[in-house]
Amino acid sequence: MITLRNLTKVYNGQTVLDGIDLDIQKGEIVVILGPSGTGKSTLLRCLNLLETPEAGTLEIDGFHIDLARHNGKQAIELRKRTSFVFQNYALFANKTARDNIAEGLITVWKKPKAEARAEAMRILGDIGLAEKAGAYPSSLSGGQQQRVGIGRAMASHAKVMLFDEPTSALDPEWVDEVLGLMKKLALAHQTMVVVTHEIGFARDVADRVIFMDGGRIVEQGPPATLLTNPQDPRTRAFLRKVL
Ligand code: ATP
Ligand code: MG
Repeated sequence: MITLRNLTKVYNGQTVLDGIDLDIQKGEIVVILGPSGTGKSTLLRCLNLLETPEAGTLEIDGFHIDLARHNGKQAIELRKRTSFVFQNYALFANKTARDNIAEGLITVWKKPKAEARAEAMRILGDIGLAEKAGAYPSSLSGGQQQRVGIGRAMASHAKVMLFDEPTSALDPEWVDEVLGLMKKLALAHQTMVVVTHEIGFARDVADRVIFMDGGRIVEQGPPATLLTNPQDPRTRAFLRKVL
C-alpha cells in the first residue's frame, strides 16, 4: 500500500538518509530501531513532509507524490493520508483536548466546526478521555496529553500513522497507557510506523522490525527473527545495549 523509493536527505553536506526504499502493507505495524542520529526521525518527517528531502517518491494507496518536488496542494493531500504523533505531543496549549483533536479536521479536511467537534468527542470516548474534553493540555498528565496527540492523529483516518518515540518524553508511570492505546490501534489494523526504544512493544506488536544505521536500512525482519537472531554486527551491538 505504501511504496517509498530512494528517499535521500542531506543536511549541511551530510547525507542523513541515503536512498531508502521501503514497502509497507496495509495494516502492517513497522517498528524502526537504531542508534541516535541515524535518521529515524528524519525518515518519518519526510514521509509527512515536515522536511523536504533531496530525492524520494512515495505512493500511498494510489496517491503518488515526488517528495522533493511537491506543491502545497500535494502536501495537503499527503497529510490527509499520513498522520504524525510527536515525542513531545506538540499540542496547542491554548486549545482544549477536544479542539486539539478537531483542529486538523477543520484545517486539513475543511469540516464544519460542529461536525469536527462531534467527531473529536467520539474519539475522546475511544481513547478514554471523554471527561477531559474541556481540559487544556497543561492540566493533563503526560500520558493523557500523548493520548490526545494520538487522538488527533486518529481523527484524520490516515492510511498510515507515524509515531516518533511517542513514549520517550513520558514519566515511566504513563508509558503503559500510551503503549496500550497504540496496541489497540494495531489490533484495529491501523497501519503504523513506530520509531521507539520500547523493545517489548516491538516484540509483542510489530509485524516487522527495521534496524537503521547511518541513514540506511541495515536489516529487517519479523521481531522474532530480528530481535533474537540479528545478522549484522551493527544490529547485534545495538541490541546488546538495549535488551
Ligand atoms: P534520535 O534517536 O536521537 O532521535 P534519529 O535517528 O531520530 O536520532 P535524526 O533526528 O533523524 O536522528 O537526525 C539524523 C541526523 O540529521 C543527525 O546527524 C542530526 O544531527 C541531523 N539533523 C536532523 N535534523 C536536522 C536539522 N534540522 N538541521 C541539521 N541537521 C539535522
Ligand atoms: Mg529521533
